[in-house]
Amino acid sequence: MIAANIEKIKIQIGLNTRLIAVSKTKPVSALQEAYDAGQRLFGENKVQEMVDKHTQLPEDIEWHMIGHLQSNKVKYIAPFVSLIHGVDSLKLLEVIDKEGVKNNRIIPCLLQVYIAKEETKFGLEASEIEELLGSNNFKGLKNIAIYGLMGMASNTEDLEQVRLEFTGLKSLFDKLKSTYFNEDARFTEISMGMSGDYQIAIDEGATLVRIGSSIFGSR
Ligand SMILES: *Cc1c(COP(=O)(O)O)cnc(C)c1O
Repeated sequence: MIAANIEKIKIQIGLNTRLIAVSKTKPVSALQEAYDAGQRLFGENKVQEMVDKHTQLPEDIEWHMIGHLQSNKVKYIAPFVSLIHGVDSLKLLEVIDKEGVKNNRIIPCLLQVYIAKEETKFGLEASEIEELLGSNNFKGLKNIAIYGLMGMASNTEDLEQVRLEFTGLKSLFDKLKSTYFNEDARFTEISMGMSGDYQIAIDEGATLVRIGSSIFGSR
């Protein structure tokens, strides 16, 4: 079941987009099944759960933190996390940087952009991102690297609305790329699209899709 779902999704998303299997709340056995089907990128939204699963599963998995991350918990994932998707403040980036120094590594991060119409989602407005990227405090951070942007579309049946939100994220990415990251080849990722909207996200330029229920079943 899991293997067949992954197979099907990989064909749909093509070669320019990578699949993150969102395995939150699912048992280690389900992740192992996905791993055996060739899946290597996994997304979790809780620190403790990611740490537990990381210790029980093979070393060559890329662990993606997709949930809202609290500053006091960064230290638990700093040694091994592949990409932190939900960075939404300079303060959090500073903590991640400090943990990067302690672990003698550069920790890859995405800035989470507020693209939905709803009030509930986390993220930064475009103007706040520009302010962050232009600040001297940001320029001093050597143990984080901004790999790109992440966004979550509105949870709505209105697919045109969803498409507009993804298009907006892609244009912001292009603008930031030319303004702030012209000489930084690491700024390449657009993380957008979940089970309900990944086809649209891919059309609009997603490089990473985060898919849970279409692989592992509903939670
Ligand atoms: C849970 C989650 C997903 C995956 O959602 P599905 O609808 O199960 O595919 C993607 N992104 C984030 C940030 C999530 O929390």
